[in-house]
Amino acid sequence: MKRIEKFGIVFCMIIGVGLSFWTEQKAISHLCNRQYEEAFIKNEKNEQQVMLVEEENKREQKVAYLTFDDGPSVYTPQVLDILNKYGIHATFFLIGENVDDKMLPIIERTVKEGNLVGIHTYSHRAEKIYGSCEAFQKDVQMAKAVIENAIHEKVRFYRFPWGSANGYLRPISKHVIPWLQEQGITYCDWNVSGEDSIGKCSEWSIYHNVEKDMGRFKQSFILLHDSKSCCLTVSALPQIIEDALAKGYRFDTIDHATNVYQCCLE
Ligand SMILES: [Zn+2]
Repeated sequence: MKRIEKFGIVFCMIIGVGLSFWTEQKAISHLCNRQYEEAFIKNEKNEQQVMLVEEENKREQKVAYLTFDDGPSVYTPQVLDILNKYGIHATFFLIGENVDDKMLPIIERTVKEGNLVGIHTYSHRAEKIYGSCEAFQKDVQMAKAVIENAIHEKVRFYRFPWGSANGYLRPISKHVIPWLQEQGITYCDWNVSGEDSIGKCSEWSIYHNVEKDMGRFKQSFILLHDSKSCCLTVSALPQIIEDALAKGYRFDTIDHATNVYQCCLE
């Protein structure tokens, strides 16, 4: 065999081995990439499944959202003490007119202890709130300004005085509800009420009104009042909390709800 032929054969062998090695490496790398992609997709699918299960669990959980209208008041510190005792949080819808220098430390304490603060009204007078769209907007904006000044953050939740199903609101609701949304504010009604600001109530009647309706809803939005005329609410509160805990409810603030309760949407 000529020298040049031998050289040719060796050259071809080297190229052949090199090519097969390169092809194999490419196949391995392709396989690795595919395995990696599959693992990534699988992982992503698992994460999505976990999120769906968590979302489902959240919907299935029984949650009680205690909401206090008309504060702050002389009773707010006592309400906060009770919430702390049970290690739970609540939502407070404040009246702008009640926010004065004396109340500022109490409002700061409310937020600092993990509770949520929302707007109720500035005046709590029907003719001043619902007289016209402009009157409504003025009342909300005045309350929003003093409350945001007190809590040093934006307010995102609102409770209509007398609820969103009240007759005063009806003539202007088509205008003011979208307006609230434009302001980044969500309104929240209630599906359980202690009836603690209507007529003659007692510690027992407040507890009983909550207890009889709470079990009907997995997400109970409970209306109570934090005002100077509602001292019985403070007395009834521990019993309300203990009953809810015994029924398997946990307590939370409404900003953690999947959907807040709104009467008009029912
Ligand atoms: Zn009110």
